[in-house]
Amino acid sequence: MSFEQLGLSAELLRAVAEQGYSQPTPIQAQAIPLVLQGKDVLAGAQTGTGKTAGFTLPLLQLLQGRPVKPGVRPVRALVLTPTRELAAQVAESVETYGKNLPLRSAVIFGGVNINPQIAALRRGVDILVATPGRLLDHVNQKTLDLSQVEILVLDEADRMLDMGFIHDIRRVLKLLPAKRQNLLFSATFSDEIRRLADGLLNQPVSVEV
Ligand code: AMP
Repeated sequence: MSFEQLGLSAELLRAVAEQGYSQPTPIQAQAIPLVLQGKDVLAGAQTGTGKTAGFTLPLLQLLQGRPVKPGVRPVRALVLTPTRELAAQVAESVETYGKNLPLRSAVIFGGVNINPQIAALRRGVDILVATPGRLLDHVNQKTLDLSQVEILVLDEADRMLDMGFIHDIRRVLKLLPAKRQNLLFSATFSDEIRRLADGLLNQPVSVEV
C-alpha cells in the first residue's frame, strides 16, 4: 500500500514525501480512504501509530476541495484534544502536512494569554485545534463561531473523558451544525466512550489497529 493509492492530492503527497514517510501506517491505510469518502469513523489507535496523520491528511484534503467564499473564513474543521501538549503537536502536524495548501490553522489552549488567540481567530482560520476549556472561553467571549464546522475530530477521546471534559465536550457539540462529519480516536473503549460515540457518530465505520 502506498500513499498514492489512498487518493491523496499532489500537495499532500509532496508534504508526506518531504517527511520521509515511505508508506502509510495501518491506521492511515484504513482511516484515510474512509475519511475522504466523508464517513464518520470510530478509530481505535494508540499514540505512535501515526493516527495524527490518519485524520489530518484527509481532513486537509476535504477542505482543499471545498473552496470558501472570498473574505469569509469560518472554522470548518475542529480538532479537540485533552492537553495543550497534544494540541500543539496536532497543530504542528496540520502545519507540516498542509504547508503546500492555502489553508490556515490555529491552536488554542489554556494557561497562556488569550489575546494572541483572539487575534488569530479574527484573521480567519480553516482548521482549529483546541482543548475544550479554552475553546469554551472563546465561545463565551464571542471571539469564536463554531456554526460552520463541517468536520469534528475528537483525538484521544478516552483521555478527554478521564480528565473530566465530558460536560465541556457536550457543550461544544451543541454549538456545531447537526450535519457534519465526525471522527473519534481513542486508545481504549470504556462504556462511557461507547456512549459518547453512539450519540456523536452517524453510521460510523470502525477501524482498529
Ligand atoms: P502519532 O501516532 O500520530 O503520534 O505519530 C507518531 C510518529 O510517527 C510521528 O512522529 C509521525 O511523524 C510518525 N509517522 C506518522 N506517519 C508515518 C509514516 N507513514 N511513516 C513513518 N512515520 C510516520
